Amino acid sequence: MNYRNIVDKVASLYADRFLNVDHVHDVIMTMSESFDVPIEQIRNDIMSLGRVLEEKYADELGCDWCGEHIENGSGYYIDDDRVCGQCMLLAEKLDNYTTVV
Ligand SMILES: [Zn+2]
Repeated sequence: MNYRNIVDKVASLYADRFLNVDHVHDVIMTMSESFDVPIEQIRNDIMSLGRVLEEKYADELGCDWCGEHIENGSGYYIDDDRVCGQCMLLAEKLDNYTTVV
């Protein structure tokens, strides 16, 4: 993957609530070493694109199961559904239940 692909990927994961600011920061540090690009520039590239995508996704940022708003970095995917932490816990319980029974 080249620099631009990774910026796109990270920005979309951030906008999609899969990464929070701390996660993004870790990625930026690694990218800065790998591509020899200044940290500030990478941060700008990722966050400006992330904000554009966030606005684009704004209507769909709720949990697909209960409709709760999902904070950055706390989303989960179950199949194609984006769900909040509570629903993820619920899904794990149901899963255990069906496994046990
Ligand atoms: Zn939920």
